[in-house]
Amino acid sequence: MTSPLTPVLTETWDADRSWSLDTYRASGGYDALEKALGQDPGDLVQLVKDSGLRGRGGAGFPTGLKWGFLPPDDGGPRYLVVNADESEPGTCKDIPLMMASPHLLVEGVAITSFAIGCNHAFIYVRGEVLHVYRRLLRAVEEAYAAGLLGKDVLGKGYDLDVTVHAGAGAYICGEETALLDSLEGRRGQPRLKPPFPAVAGLYARPTVVNNVESIASVPSIVRHGADWFKGMGTERSAGYGIFSLSGHVKTPGQYEAPLGITLRELIDMAGGMREGHQLKFWTPGGSSTPLFTDEHLDVPLDYESVGAAGSMLGTRALQIFDETTCVVRAVTRWTEFYAHESCGKCTPCREGTFWLRAVLQRVEAGQGTQEDLDVLLDVCDNILGRAFCALGDGATSPITSSIQYFRAEYEAHITGGACPFDHSKSALFD
Ligand code: NAD
Repeated sequence: MTSPLTPVLTETWDADRSWSLDTYRASGGYDALEKALGQDPGDLVQLVKDSGLRGRGGAGFPTGLKWGFLPPDDGGPRYLVVNADESEPGTCKDIPLMMASPHLLVEGVAITSFAIGCNHAFIYVRGEVLHVYRRLLRAVEEAYAAGLLGKDVLGKGYDLDVTVHAGAGAYICGEETALLDSLEGRRGQPRLKPPFPAVAGLYARPTVVNNVESIASVPSIVRHGADWFKGMGTERSAGYGIFSLSGHVKTPGQYEAPLGITLRELIDMAGGMREGHQLKFWTPGGSSTPLFTDEHLDVPLDYESVGAAGSMLGTRALQIFDETTCVVRAVTRWTEFYAHESCGKCTPCREGTFWLRAVLQRVEAGQGTQEDLDVLLDVCDNILGRAFCALGDGATSPITSSIQYFRAEYEAHITGGACPFDHSKSALFD
């Protein structure tokens, strides 16, 4: 089966030197910016509202609505900050997008900045991905040299500066307010919301914080219109997105498709499961979303359907595991990550993830007790809805859902006094 969508975001990924300005311009790149600069900024905000684009960073908040939350111009600065701190386990869509097509993001930044009345935009890149940082710096440099950024963009009287900033490699800095603190030079820890960044964000000024893929979706909406975008996906989850397939499929990678596609269709596109193996469990949107099993192969991957089936679409990071994988081991690994990355600001997340890790490690090692399963669920219950930001809630998702679907597997570790799996067969969590 081929992709059910003519690629949009990934259109030029296979082109020779796809990251260069020349290649991007050869496929119509920056035409949308030229078109946008001839329009009323308010009309551009309305266009994105009408398109139904929802935030691609995971939460799915309507993008145009977020732009519309900025207070009226008071003469002071307002900012666009692109959240390029992609770090959710399994999530690997923004990094390839920025590597393959950095100008798509830069064009989206320029259009969005013009639409919201911003003259200084920031791209905050995860610290570990030095190669992406360098590629973005080069793209921004090329855009300045070509008059696409800087003073009097394309001779239309609009000024825009773009700063690319590398973080220091902390998962919490992907949380938008921790990102803003980090960008301001402080230790990245989440702020209380409200006020939302739209009202008081970077340097306490009105700020739009958007994910890379959301911003990269803007040029094609400007080019083709809201109806074109709405014509794909589902009624309330419009458009397309990049689905990242990893784990036990034959051809892992990025698959661009309309929202509402199913895992069954995506696995077909990825060549099927590993030869001779069957699907056991998967994450619809990274490890912070409740697990799904083979019962959920036909759930349409849109915000509403995934939510109704008990999980979240999140970042569309589909981590796929076959029957050779120990779910307890997988969940323990993710929990070790959350405990390590908890910023420590709030007690439920700091202490809770510490204890979740400790209890899971002993259960996984075959040294747990039946009571430990109740302790795990109780600690999760005490974190959920009580942590300062989404990190705490996310840490509980794989634990509660795996106990819901695979309680017998947890019990087998306890009664058998050891993990019943040969981890070399899964080769993912050995
Ligand atoms: P959220 O629902 O609190 O907010 C989503 C966005 O909408 C934010 O930008 C927020 O400022 C804005 N918003 C919400 N209500 C608003 C209002 N009333 N006024 C103005 N703006 C408003 O979610 P969140 O905590 O920002 O993000 C959680 C999501 O992050 C999870 O769903 C998860 O999938 C995702 N996530 C992604 C990664 C990654 O690497 N991409 C990592 C971890 C988590």
